[in-house]
Parts: sequence; C-alpha cells; structure tokens
Amino acid sequence: MSTHTPTRMCIGCRSRMEKQKLIRFVYDGKLILDAKQKHPGRGAYICGEKACIARIMKKNTLGYALHASLSSEDKALLEGCTHE
Ligand SMILES: [Zn+2]
Repeated sequence: MSTHTPTRMCIGCRSRMEKQKLIRFVYDGKLILDAKQKHPGRGAYICGEKACIARIMKKNTLGYALHASLSSEDKALLEGCTHE
C-alpha cells in the first residue's frame, strides 16, 4: 500500500480514494466547494457519483458531516457537482 498518496473517505459510499479524486466541501456560513482542498475548517469529501450524491441528499449526510443545516442553495451546489 502506497503511503505517499493521501486518501480520504467519501461520506456517502464510504469508499476510500485519492484525495484529489474526491470533491471537498467545507461549511463556512454557507456551503463552499473547496476545489483546491485548502480551505480551513471541517471538511467533507464526496466521490461525485450520481447515485452517491442522491443518497447524500436523501439522508442529509453532508449536513451531519459538517454539523450544518444546509439551505436549498447549499443543496443545489451539492447536486450540481455530480460527475457526468
Ligand atoms: Zn461516494
């Protein structure tokens, strides 16, 4: 197992992947898509799979992970980051 590739777990499907392949979100008053993965604070990673995002939306997994109550705009941002 490689030790020099940082991995993170998707909060929806719990699969481990290289950090760069995941999408990082932080909550800072509102939901922020942290494309550079540098934003300070509590972050959550998602894989971007359509089915996975649908499950995250349904169960409010991202809200729990970030200890935040997500607005409809926040949810639209999450929904919009689905991979094709
Ligand atoms: Zn996932």
